[in-house]
Amino acid sequence: MSETLVVNEIYLSLQGESTFAGLPCVFVRLTACDLRCSYCDTAFAFTEGKKRTLEEIRVEVRRLAAAYSKTNVAAEVTRLASNREVGSGKQEQQNEPPHVGCYRLPLVELTGGEPLLQKNSLLLMQQLCDDGFTVLLETSGAHDISHVDPRVRRIVDLKCPSSGEVERNRPANNPHLKATDEIKFVLGTVEDYEWAKQQITTHKLDAICPLLMSWVHPLRPEQQHKSLKPVPTDQTPITRQQLVERIIADALPVRFQAQLHKIIWPPEQRGV
Ligand code: SF4
Repeated sequence: MSETLVVNEIYLSLQGESTFAGLPCVFVRLTACDLRCSYCDTAFAFTEGKKRTLEEIRVEVRRLAAAYSKTNVAAEVTRLASNREVGSGKQEQQNEPPHVGCYRLPLVELTGGEPLLQKNSLLLMQQLCDDGFTVLLETSGAHDISHVDPRVRRIVDLKCPSSGEVERNRPANNPHLKATDEIKFVLGTVEDYEWAKQQITTHKLDAICPLLMSWVHPLRPEQQHKSLKPVPTDQTPITRQQLVERIIADALPVRFQAQLHKIIWPPEQRGV
């Protein structure tokens, strides 16, 4: 029987976060999450989704990525013609998709929900790597990352206190983190900032991989799913400007990131 996953949506857009921000990316959003972060803006993925075979998902990813190959093929034809004109006679590689540095475009990211809740996500990531894609995984960090294909770039979201899910962080993941991974903190309060700073210092996280800090984008009323955890009442909200100023004042070795897709499109828009 075919291997399947429950998929919420698959779409091509711009990578809005991480050190890959700004690059084109095919997103495979998987259904279900076992956390209920106070600021979650993808609650629609908790339950909405359809079962699809891994082959169907790969076909869809390839379909969305095809335009990049065509663009490159056109450029390649021009380059080959120009090489012929100067009589270079070199063997040129055809149909090679475009790259930025060593990253093939578009990127492919598994996100959610929580992708690692569905075990076949491991197989899909492996297959997408075999297909030649640069594969990213966005995970809450509440699940074992050690079985993820080593070619995958894992973006692990360490949950801060205002998420209401700080106790779900899985310290057993720490020894498995490596330089190609990224750790993300989503911060909405002064307490989040102090907690993140302590985690960085205590575990020397900056020596492991890039560190990202995002500011919690306020949810629109229609995004406030009733199952989300409340922000603990004893916490002090922090503005985006205050957060950035603290990062600079403390000389914290992190990359502040705005969520590009929320600047470009309405924050509640899906499929971007
Ligand atoms: S882990 Fe991600 S998808 Fe799950 S509740 Fe938290 S923010 Fe939402």
